[in-house]
Amino acid sequence: MIALRHVVMRLTAGGRSITILDDLTLEIPSKQFVAVVGPSGSGKSTLLALIAGLDAPTAGTIALDGVDLGGLDEDALAGLRLEKIGVVFQAFHLIPTLTALENVAVPLELAGDPDPLGRARELLDEVDLAARADHYPVQLSGGEQQRVALARACARRPPLLLADEPTGNLDAATGAHVMALLRRMHRDYGSTLVLVTHDAGLAASADRIVTLRDGHIVSDTGGTGDG
Ligand code: ADP
Ligand code: MG
Repeated sequence: MIALRHVVMRLTAGGRSITILDDLTLEIPSKQFVAVVGPSGSGKSTLLALIAGLDAPTAGTIALDGVDLGGLDEDALAGLRLEKIGVVFQAFHLIPTLTALENVAVPLELAGDPDPLGRARELLDEVDLAARADHYPVQLSGGEQQRVALARACARRPPLLLADEPTGNLDAATGAHVMALLRRMHRDYGSTLVLVTHDAGLAASADRIVTLRDGHIVSDTGGTGDG
């Protein structure tokens, strides 16, 4: 479902050219749970942003279900994300003027769901935040905001979930909650899950573990697959 071919990502900073991803070729089949690991600065977040179409590579191609992202304009990419991709980043990107419930309802409304608020309420319940539905992001803790962001990302049961260290800033109990929902999406709805994590135990439970270093894939092995 995801095919990266000879992807290069290069940036110019302070007059110097930096290669962030260097000739990366990677294929991720539908429904696979892939953990992406590697030291800080190895290119993990950049890789997720490219797969989400939030950034374009300097060279190479990225295709989702056979559609080359390079051939799509911003509107088409936004449409594709709405239809197919749920993204959870470390920064939550919640809309500050909307309540938790309204934040979760946004993608449902955009997609013309017949009952966006009702469905959003169910999703908040799944992340144990029903009691916080009417709170604004500033009134929520970091862990609560992350769970709202996750409920929003999962709202349309996207076939592809991209999660960048979603448990990185959370205490163990909240992190377990977030992972439980991601695993449920993967298991029950067959979502492909690409998870960047520093947690070795979490990575080991994936179907596959891809390790990046300096913008290269240095290892690509099977996990236990019991995630
Ligand atoms: P990771 O998520 O594995 O920590 P990133 O993908 O965030 O790595 O970044 C990879 C490298 O690219 C890092 O060295 C980072 O400093 C650099 N980098 C990322 N984005 C930019 C940018 N916009 N400008 C300059 N350097 C960047
Ligand atoms: Mg990162």
